[in-house]
Amino acid sequence: MDAKCELCGEPMPEGEQMFKYHGLSGPCPKPPLPKSVEEVGWCIVRYFGSDLTYWNGRFLDSSRGFETDNLKAIRFARQEDASIVLSWLLGNEGAAQEHMWVCP
Ligand SMILES: [Zn+2]
Repeated sequence: MDAKCELCGEPMPEGEQMFKYHGLSGPCPKPPLPKSVEEVGWCIVRYFGSDLTYWNGRFLDSSRGFETDNLKAIRFARQEDASIVLSWLLGNEGAAQEHMWVCP
């Protein structure tokens, strides 16, 4: 069994594999792992052919302003805000979509 400390990610020592964290025989040998962060937001999306692309907020034109990499997408906190920019940017094209990102 490969038990790892949930705080620092290092293997648990012999005889302590039943525990979730270091502590019995000493503190964590390494600094804590960064916690992953879930971000929820609304993006402006449109299809180019069969590719779903996301507005990056940096350009208004469709060739540079839309990319397939959703990590580069501008994320709006509210659907309302995404919809306002969508109508200004694309009129009746495209859509506002809600996504969740898990960031390291
Ligand atoms: Zn630890």
